[in-house]
Amino acid sequence: MTIGWCFDNTYYKLSKAFKEDIKPVPVKKPELVLLNKKLAENLNLNFSNSENQKLSELFSGNSLPEGCNSLAQAYAGHQFGHFTMLGDGRAVLIGEHLSKDNKRYDIQLKGSGKTAFSRNGDGRAALGPMLREYIISEAMNGLRIPTTRSLAVVKTGEDVIRETSLPGAILTRIASSHIRVGTFQYIAARQKKSELEELLNYVIHRHYPNIKDSKYKAEELLNIVLEKQINLVVNWMRVGFIHGVMNTDNMSISGETIDYGPCAFMDTYDPKTVFSSIDQMGRYAYCNQPIITKWNLSRLAECLLPLIDKDQEKAIQLATKIINSFEKKYEEKWLNMMRDKLGLFGVDEKDKFLILDLLTWMHQKKVDYTNTFCHLMNEKIKEDKNYEDEDFQNWKKRWNERLKMNNNTPEKYLKLMKTVNPLIIPRNHKVEEVLEAAEKDNLKPIIQLVEILKDPYSHQKNILDYQTPSNLKKNYQTFCGT
Ligand code: AMP
Ligand code: MG
Repeated sequence: MTIGWCFDNTYYKLSKAFKEDIKPVPVKKPELVLLNKKLAENLNLNFSNSENQKLSELFSGNSLPEGCNSLAQAYAGHQFGHFTMLGDGRAVLIGEHLSKDNKRYDIQLKGSGKTAFSRNGDGRAALGPMLREYIISEAMNGLRIPTTRSLAVVKTGEDVIRETSLPGAILTRIASSHIRVGTFQYIAARQKKSELEELLNYVIHRHYPNIKDSKYKAEELLNIVLEKQINLVVNWMRVGFIHGVMNTDNMSISGETIDYGPCAFMDTYDPKTVFSSIDQMGRYAYCNQPIITKWNLSRLAECLLPLIDKDQEKAIQLATKIINSFEKKYEEKWLNMMRDKLGLFGVDEKDKFLILDLLTWMHQKKVDYTNTFCHLMNEKIKEDKNYEDEDFQNWKKRWNERLKMNNNTPEKYLKLMKTVNPLIIPRNHKVEEVLEAAEKDNLKPIIQLVEILKDPYSHQKNILDYQTPSNLKKNYQTFCGT
């Protein structure tokens, strides 16, 4: 029985400007570490008849399946506010695979060697960060948040030099596409309208075919991406996820979470939480994520101006109107999301105060974000005396009054709350713990963590340890040295 690849590589057929045709650079001694069998199944791929050695060769890029047209994508990006020409400096897209339901997936090898876009980098990735992306992206999927997926990780048998020498690895990443805001920025910077039109039409054909006959394609695309990104960031806020590097090159046009670098989940509720060691100003702090989303969307709007209207003034006016719709839409979606977290049906004008008062209390008392909602759902979590606090008891009385509206019953509101409040998230210390074990060739803990995170809204046995807030040093940091 064959693996079942079904390649149909459309990005490869785009103009030269979009990419460099290049193969992964072979590695010394590839060794399969993780394979996501469930995801493979969803993609209609069957690896069960392939020997480990064959799979290691495949997922390292040492041997490419028939039908590949591998390439590195060109893109640009605002990194911490500064515009740079980038591109896949350590990844290749090996092709687009079609599943049986005709869904199209990019198959990308991350850590696959130097390309024309590598600048001063070595084109490689270390095992820790690739396993980290595997854990967090699969956890996001379990949380039902749009994300790129992780199919496999292989060790390369080569060392990569970062601050120290680390084992090299390659991640096989699956995405509905890897087209970014930065892809538009790269093409727009070349100032060739025909290329910009080519990209617009490609994106619409691939992701949003329902607007393909519109007279206002560029405006409609901007509106759709705005909507998708609002949904995404509201989801991040819901579970306390902090992306860490929301540069425009790390914002996907499809609305999936992409490029897991120094990301992490917040424990103690503090809107200013930042984990990334390089984000000293807190540009990408938890509470700034919606603001940055809007900022990034404004960069997309700028790229689309020549396609919105020939008259630049008019184009700016039209684009500005769309961008300025962000706040109202975000606020509404955020409020509804928080209502769901509290099990509130319908709308009451005082809801916003009820929600903000809870958040303020959580901030003041430094309580755990995830576990507070677990507490409100009467879930068994580690005891925390803070929940006996008088202010919290008073807040609960107001909440209980509000719950009585709209014929709400405990069955109804608990059911709603359980769909949006995870019982477990990838706690930072747990992630560190399993990565440490994996680096010593003990894969059991990482496999177990990934398994538990597949179903974060359900009761599972023996998960108390996974629900405990991180006991690492107080200012937990993640590093971009990926
Ligand atoms: P990232 O931080 O992974 O989003 O990467 C930002 C940019 O730096 C992208 O263009 C990457 O391809 C590039 N990059 C990151 N690490 C490396 C590396 N080790 N070698 C070459 N390019 C890299
Ligand atoms: Mg990136």
